[in-house]
Amino acid sequence: MTAGKRNTAQLQALDAAHHLHPFTDHRDLGGRGTRIIERASGVYLWDSEGNKLLDGMAGLWCVNIGYGRRELADAAHRQMLELPYYNSFFQCTHPPAVELASAIAEQAPAHMNRVFFTGSGSEANDTVLRMVRRYWDLQGQPQRKTVISRINGYHGSTVAGASLGGMSAMHEQGDLPIPGIVHIPQPYWYGEGGDMDEGEFGLWAARQLEQKILELGVDRVAAFIAEPIQGAGGVIVPPATYWPEIQRIVDQYGILLVVDEVICGFGRTGEWFGSQYYGIRPDLMPIAKGMTSGYLPMGGVIVGDRVASCLIDQGGEFFHGYTYSGHPVAAAVGLENLRILREEGIVDYAREQAAPYLQQKIAALAEHPLVGQVRGVGMLGALELVRDKRTRERFPGKGAAGTLCRDLCIRNGLVMRAVGDTLIMSPPLVIQPQEIDELFDKAWRTLNMAAEELR
Ligand code: PMP
Repeated sequence: MTAGKRNTAQLQALDAAHHLHPFTDHRDLGGRGTRIIERASGVYLWDSEGNKLLDGMAGLWCVNIGYGRRELADAAHRQMLELPYYNSFFQCTHPPAVELASAIAEQAPAHMNRVFFTGSGSEANDTVLRMVRRYWDLQGQPQRKTVISRINGYHGSTVAGASLGGMSAMHEQGDLPIPGIVHIPQPYWYGEGGDMDEGEFGLWAARQLEQKILELGVDRVAAFIAEPIQGAGGVIVPPATYWPEIQRIVDQYGILLVVDEVICGFGRTGEWFGSQYYGIRPDLMPIAKGMTSGYLPMGGVIVGDRVASCLIDQGGEFFHGYTYSGHPVAAAVGLENLRILREEGIVDYAREQAAPYLQQKIAALAEHPLVGQVRGVGMLGALELVRDKRTRERFPGKGAAGTLCRDLCIRNGLVMRAVGDTLIMSPPLVIQPQEIDELFDKAWRTLNMAAEELR
């Protein structure tokens, strides 16, 4: 190590020499150099060259309360001095984990009263898989192992997370999914709805679950897992008919419903949880991201009474847990994050003010010649780029148009993410109206520049 501040080129060279990045083609990256983000405040980031960027993605869908909240740093500092680490195994607990579990239970749907802590969203979904199978073992139905999930869903990057997810590129690298996980079509009407109208397609997509249950035999199916709105898959908002039909099916066949709230939880939809937005009744809800607004890594599973009472009353020891389950510093930060979300009415602000305005602005982007469809819920939005609006014909190059726009966005001082040719946004919930205006001015300018280049 050397003293003093390194410049951009030096940091990039060291990064290329020593740092392997998530979801990255390193040969491609090596040629272009990494962007070095140095600091942040509110909804803005600054890179090592002094460029200011509006963060339309809240980091990775996580910085719900915005950057630079001193209270979270203070909470971490206090907790590190008081008790930087202790586990919650072996009959122990500590105040931050207790307080956070109870605060989350208070915010969760009424029938969900317990939290199992993890270090991330992926670990939360590993926990889900083990907990669901344990539940059915305890019910005397150990053959009920199969979890049904969705093509193009995202549930993390560990072996179980990537298997539950339905990303074919991930499955191809390493023989996934593991046995006992099967996938059904996603409720992606714009891309896959064919001639059906949206409502009809939503029912069709939900009934794929019923068909799969019947095909496998109900006595072999443990659970269905899905995101309320697919995030990493491209902010895919299901038709209004979808979730009520899914609820009917899981109720009818008695299988567990797992609603992955890693993105939608903690206010993203304008409700505390996406399940509340859609009025669905999960048995398990994996959470992470907004739980600490990303200030420290933490995840968990909110466990409904049906599963919790079985595990507690009949279960004996559940051989599962992580060194960092309920980490005291992460929990203290999570608790402070929750306090801020509540006391400052941030979820209410998102629902009543920011989201309606954001959605109005997203809807206006549908006018742009490159935009085939806009969609969004709460503080989530997507613009799908097409060459021909009428026929929904795509641009050639499998995502090249999206990547072009993403790069132009950065040049215009805005961070949006591209999933194929879909541009997605998920800004901090605290974004102010004039910052929303700025976001959309930059997005419009980007689309104009892209239209020039794509012509
Ligand atoms: N579930 C969902 C819905 C996610 O969006 C993500 C992350 N984007 C995960 C799980 C995995 O979380 P993590 O990256 O914290 O492991």
